[in-house]
Amino acid sequence: MKFDNPRPETQVNHPPEIETPEDNRPLNLPIYQNVKWQTDSVDESLRVLRGERAGFFYSRVGNPSVRQLELLLAQLQGRSSCLASASGVNAIAQCLLSLTSAGDHIVFFIEGYSPTRQIIRKLLARFGVTHTMLSIEDLPALERELAARPTRLVFFESPTNPVNKIADIAAITRLARQHGALTVLDNTAAGFHQHGQFDVDVFIHSLTKFTTGAGDVMGGAVIADESIIAPMRADYALLGAQLDALSASLMVRGMKTYFVRYRTQSAAALQIANFLEAHPAVSKVRYPGLESHAHAALARAQMSDFGTVITFDLRAGFEAGRTFAESLHLFARTPSFGSTESLVVPPQMMQPRDFSPAELLVSEIGPGTVRLSIGLEDPLDLQTDLSRSLELAAR
Ligand SMILES: *Cc1c(COP(=O)(O)O)cnc(C)c1O
Repeated sequence: MKFDNPRPETQVNHPPEIETPEDNRPLNLPIYQNVKWQTDSVDESLRVLRGERAGFFYSRVGNPSVRQLELLLAQLQGRSSCLASASGVNAIAQCLLSLTSAGDHIVFFIEGYSPTRQIIRKLLARFGVTHTMLSIEDLPALERELAARPTRLVFFESPTNPVNKIADIAAITRLARQHGALTVLDNTAAGFHQHGQFDVDVFIHSLTKFTTGAGDVMGGAVIADESIIAPMRADYALLGAQLDALSASLMVRGMKTYFVRYRTQSAAALQIANFLEAHPAVSKVRYPGLESHAHAALARAQMSDFGTVITFDLRAGFEAGRTFAESLHLFARTPSFGSTESLVVPPQMMQPRDFSPAELLVSEIGPGTVRLSIGLEDPLDLQTDLSRSLELAAR
């Protein structure tokens, strides 16, 4: 029923309703910058809340803009469901908190993303979740470990961040399956369109990297079949790190150019990796698309595009890395990757502080290790910039 003649103070809190006819639809989903939903009856709202009918109730639990992004990402990765949240690290933490209980065991790898290590070794350890850290290249050790004790899950990456090792996904998922462990693959570097063909239970992505390419939003996603996601939903609603509607909308918008960006940047990265490999100031280039890569055949079998990250070693070492990074004009000196601008991480910003000498050796992060993220600039301009800086750094 309409309320007649509301006073101005009432009017501003009950603005006019806008009609959106069924046959007159916007091409882009409007941004649902909104927290609360109502229905016409208390019972219907309760049914929404209990998941007995379609609808939304509260944005910490679900929001149409976020839901559209989740469904798009799930589709691309070839799974039925997805939970988006406020950052990639949050997706890792929430996924692991949801999948483990005190007494569970996790196997993960030295060569992975450093904050993942902190989550497993520091945060989860406080809740009685144990772990073993292996090399991603040591499958016999993985098999021994899985045979030695019940393991809840194996967490891995491919290509690994930062040194671009390639995990043997078929072998890892087969071993885990044999021993009743779940597999969680942080697929951030490979993108949303790769690795879906493998028997991976859960994919993790930082949405901060490739969704927009603009470096203007942060987010994370856990992608899996609904049977795995459904029990996580309640935890997600309680931990309360929902992605916001505006960020989700920007990501859906950004994804329209995802393939063009990923493939163009990957092609440029291959070209630049070849250039670096031929340069006398460079001792080792790690790019999965290079013939010389230690896992080149595996990369070729698993991937169609080799990604936008190149890691290489400067012959002249640590201080040369500083000169190199500071001499570059077209590469921003900052972490992350997947953005349309090129980025450089010098050795000073790369060194892990939590590794034993033996682990550091396995990580293959050396004193002269530099990571590049290749953007959408003209690859020849990038080469000119790199070439000039390599000469300055070699002096
Ligand atoms: C960047 C990154 C993350 C974390 O993502 P944020 O959005 O920065 O929290 C997780 N995993 C990998 C492999 C990454 O590169």
